[in-house]
Amino acid sequence: GIEPRVVKGALFTWVRPETAQDPELLCVSPVALRDLGIRHGEQKTEEFRQTVAGNRLLGWDEEREDGGYPWAQCYGGWQFGSWAGQLGDGRAISLFEVTNPATKKRYELQLKGAGITPYSRFADGKAVLRSSIREFIVSEALNALKIPTTRALSLTLLPHSRVLRETTEPGAIVARFAESWLRIGTFDILRARGDRNLIRQLSSYIAENVFDGWTSLPARNPADDGKASEPIKTGIEKTTIEGPSGLEENRFTRLYREIVRRNAKTVAAWQAYAFTNGVLNTDNTSIFGLSIDFGPFAFLDNFDPNYTPNHDDHMLRYSYRNQPTIIWWNLVRLGESLGELIGIGAGVDNEEFVEKGVRQEDAEELVSRAEGLITRIGEEYKAVFLDEYKRLMTARLGLKIFKESDFESLFSELLDTMEALELDFNQFFRKLSSLKVGELATDEQRKEAAGMFFHSEGVTGLGNTDKQARKRVGAWLERWRNRVYEDWGPDGGDAERELEMKKVNPKFIPKSWILDEVIRRVEKEGEREILNRVLHMALHPFDERWGWDEKEEVRLCGDVPRRDRAMQCSCSS
Ligand code: AMP
Ligand code: MG
Ligand code: MG
Repeated sequence: GIEPRVVKGALFTWVRPETAQDPELLCVSPVALRDLGIRHGEQKTEEFRQTVAGNRLLGWDEEREDGGYPWAQCYGGWQFGSWAGQLGDGRAISLFEVTNPATKKRYELQLKGAGITPYSRFADGKAVLRSSIREFIVSEALNALKIPTTRALSLTLLPHSRVLRETTEPGAIVARFAESWLRIGTFDILRARGDRNLIRQLSSYIAENVFDGWTSLPARNPADDGKASEPIKTGIEKTTIEGPSGLEENRFTRLYREIVRRNAKTVAAWQAYAFTNGVLNTDNTSIFGLSIDFGPFAFLDNFDPNYTPNHDDHMLRYSYRNQPTIIWWNLVRLGESLGELIGIGAGVDNEEFVEKGVRQEDAEELVSRAEGLITRIGEEYKAVFLDEYKRLMTARLGLKIFKESDFESLFSELLDTMEALELDFNQFFRKLSSLKVGELATDEQRKEAAGMFFHSEGVTGLGNTDKQARKRVGAWLERWRNRVYEDWGPDGGDAERELEMKKVNPKFIPKSWILDEVIRRVEKEGEREILNRVLHMALHPFDERWGWDEKEEVRLCGDVPRRDRAMQCSCSS
């Protein structure tokens, strides 16, 4: 039998999924099949059904007890700002790695909700259908929006299961995959154990096997140019490589910077598409810069920067607004784990150095250098974040180039307006895409056009009359129109601009109220087809029509019903 336990000296445990009785394969992502390099049609075979339910182990010879055996990863984490100790895959079991022969991308395929592991702690190793539907759809939706993410291949219902949460619910398994499931928490646990060798081994593994080798890592931090800082003599990591300017940079620093840069880009995309993860603990922050762990996530409905989808997040730590700051907070924890390897000593804590026998003066010097290094990499994080955010917002606004003044006069003013008038964030950009700038020439025309952005129940922001609201949106439209003329010339490029804008401004976003409806219909009404339809929309979010029921499609792309606004989730899933 498997017992939850504290694992020492290792980062994973061999463990196999529980047997699943009569698994019902509810839905498969065709895009995931393609990306994994699985032949189309394969998903209809009995072997596929049994594999994604955990009943058949591909590559493991049951008779000879030989081959590749499944495993669960060990990690720790900082949850809501406090150290939580050992966590790990408490209900996810990895089956195998698979390389797509065409793209050469390698993925680790795992089953979530397949039974307990040594990392299950006090819980049952199961996942309810409700949260599995949410994870399955949002993984594929984010990928379709070109936001780096872990993926989902299939959703399986376990018809005989009864999972106890607030009530008893049906259980399910999501087969999911990612180029890496390693998290900042994987380093946290090693740091907590004081396992310096394994931190080095893990870092080397990531550089060589997860990324494309040491030389693929980013060149010297631009913030350092012309300031050849001496390698810090801690007597620890000496291995260096040449930067392009001939300056030396520790290779582990480059690895750290790559992880920082990837996460900066991903969080920029979350902000640009108003996605909130809801539980950005360090165990839910990916080393590969993926969106990872879909618990109480949500896309914003009406724009509200203080919104958190997490019902238990009373401090708003994981609100939309805080995401860039929190990801950086998590990345600083990683910097501390990598401390020795990036040449700053054991951590950024004076006492830790002194404990390791470093002289007091040297310890102070090391602490200030450590802080200096982290500060510089923090500057790089900010710069990469801003570049990516500007790039995405510029595209979403249909502009060709970013001008410094756009930040204030277009981006900030738009966000303030959306917040004040409770406009739907993603719908706004889609609607903007179809506007013809020639028809926004006068105040009257702009005020007229402004109406299309309001909630179908009218202007709902407090203290705004319809007239004031139209005036405010109209004023913004005027500035936008002028910028469009600057970038597109005297005819405003309407037709081409609309096409370009619709490639980056989705019509369909799987908002919480939609996922809730899908869950209700699948669970309570026994529907199945709705899953395929909503998945299809999520996989092709930029399309205009999806070819089933026009009225339904319009409704699912429309306004959030008043009673379902800004829903929150509990963490129990
Ligand atoms: P999360 O809040 O999703 O990041 O989960 C935190 C930790 O709790 C992870 O180690 C999960 O694997 C574990 N966990 C959450 N739910 C369960 C469950 N039902 N059974 C076992 N482990 C769980
Ligand atoms: Mg997690
Ligand atoms: Mg989770």
